[in-house]
Amino acid sequence: MGILILFFLSCQDNIQLNKKVVVIQPLSEFSIHLTDTIRKSIEDYYQFNTIVYEVVEIPNTSYINIKTPRYRADSLLRFLRKIKPDSVNYIIGLTVKDISTTKYDTNGKVKLPTFKYKDWGIFGLGFCPGVSCVISNFRIKHPNQVIYIDRIKKITLHELGHNIGLHHCDNKNCFMTDAAESISTIDQVELNLCENCKFIIEKK
Ligand SMILES: [Zn+2]
Ligand SMILES: [Zn+2]
Repeated sequence: MGILILFFLSCQDNIQLNKKVVVIQPLSEFSIHLTDTIRKSIEDYYQFNTIVYEVVEIPNTSYINIKTPRYRADSLLRFLRKIKPDSVNYIIGLTVKDISTTKYDTNGKVKLPTFKYKDWGIFGLGFCPGVSCVISNFRIKHPNQVIYIDRIKKITLHELGHNIGLHHCDNKNCFMTDAAESISTIDQVELNLCENCKFIIEKK
């Protein structure tokens, strides 16, 4: 009985979805080692197949310098969508550069103060549902390697979760929780979806 329960618990950290294929596209200077860690976490958690592409230059057309040098995440998502082969389901871009987006309020206007939110630095972005997402390690670095790797895994699974069709979740333990502009939110969530989010995507 004890063994059965342990086995049951150990199976809770991944989910059974229809097999999908994800292309992982590292951009300029993104480390092979970190790319491989991300590949493994996608395979382990979502049980998807992955294809890792050779590193390509981050497109200059996404570059912007309003406050500091950054790359626009929405522009990167369009670039990634274009290079995604039809035969795969999702493409995930990985970058060391700072990435940004414009934050809007519930009325669709740029969130106030405008100077702050017009070009807002983020950890990652993925449309919901969508086929492309992008992750940046620029804002998540931590001297403790365990914390750093944990952050990058959670952000990857979160953005891919958006692509699969998950919206932000109210459960503060679930990795689909809105980071709410703070890395500490990400440190607090589990490397796991809540039962409700699992239920939603297992139907997709
Ligand atoms: Zn999100
Ligand atoms: Zn959830």
